[in-house]
Amino acid sequence: MTSLDELPIRDDLRGKSPYGAPQQTVPVALNVNENTHPIPEDVAHDIIARVAAAILHLNRYPDREFTELRRSLAEYLGHGLEAAQIWAANGSNEVLQHILQAYGGPGRVALGFSPTYSMYGLLASGTGTGWIMAARDDEFEVSTETAVRAVQEHDPDVVLLCAPNNPTGTPLALDTIRAVADAARGVVVVDEAYFEFAEPGTPSALTLLEGRPRLLVSRTMSKAFAFAGARVGYLAGDPAAIDALRLVRLPYHLSALTQAAALGALAHSSEMLAMVDEIRGQRERISAELSRLGFHPYRSGSNFVLFGGVDEPHAVFEALLERGILIREIGIPGHLRVTAGTEAETSAFLEAIALFAPERP
Ligand code: PMP
Repeated sequence: MTSLDELPIRDDLRGKSPYGAPQQTVPVALNVNENTHPIPEDVAHDIIARVAAAILHLNRYPDREFTELRRSLAEYLGHGLEAAQIWAANGSNEVLQHILQAYGGPGRVALGFSPTYSMYGLLASGTGTGWIMAARDDEFEVSTETAVRAVQEHDPDVVLLCAPNNPTGTPLALDTIRAVADAARGVVVVDEAYFEFAEPGTPSALTLLEGRPRLLVSRTMSKAFAFAGARVGYLAGDPAAIDALRLVRLPYHLSALTQAAALGALAHSSEMLAMVDEIRGQRERISAELSRLGFHPYRSGSNFVLFGGVDEPHAVFEALLERGILIREIGIPGHLRVTAGTEAETSAFLEAIALFAPERP
């Protein structure tokens, strides 16, 4: 078999590993922060009808500017946003890639706060952007002082703020985001992939967009919206900042099927989001129970919990997998991450993890 070393691959990609969360068919999959509740059947039927109608026109390219979808996403986001302030792509990963293609690239750097979403580094390497990871404070928090100091020290072209942060779950204060946006020379991206799981009343970075043309706020339909398989992510920002992304996207990047399906899901947004409160409740249950068992769960504003105090994370991961429960090893010694599932899935996880508790109840 040919090895990668024998191929004329770009030098800067040699030795890198692709994104690789294990994909396994197990009864309880709590490893990639999906919404584990299936989408409601009546919504599915409406989506099917819309996709079926789109199929009849697949001889033609789709609307390259996905105008209706932009309008619908603007309406969903509220905050007085208009279609021209919205961008979308095949998952927020692709949205972030567009940003790095347009605002990063060779000779430029992006800054994040480690540990953070592993795709940031991969997207930086794929686009030839330098990747700098600044350290977080205790408990994986990022204070305004820490964030602004890192921005001043590294003067990045792109800042990637993950709020709440994956894999730690840590929320990021709006004051900190505002201070970074005001201190940075480059574009500041707030990745709100998990925003809908934040405590009700938490202000979004969308409230900071006015008057800040270099601030971009990305969201996804993959998490709270229970639409991961459809691959739809989106972004809000200044119309000119958004327009720049048209220079790097592939023509017709959002298929007619994707646009039709997303419009169908958005037409039923309250039903699609109906499980968010329940999931937040399961997340609280996980945190409380892990604490009681003597583990160390971190503050989470997302649909998952990172916890420390695990003696042998790999052995625990494997032992849970043997019981049909897939969680996530994220490479932080002594830590594991679990997604809040349905009540039954969460119970299965909590019963299994109790066997490895530092303090047996
Ligand atoms: N941002 C964060 C913080 C994520 O955790 C994820 C998914 N794991 C994404 C973006 C990308 O999600 P998608 O491409 O499915 O929108």
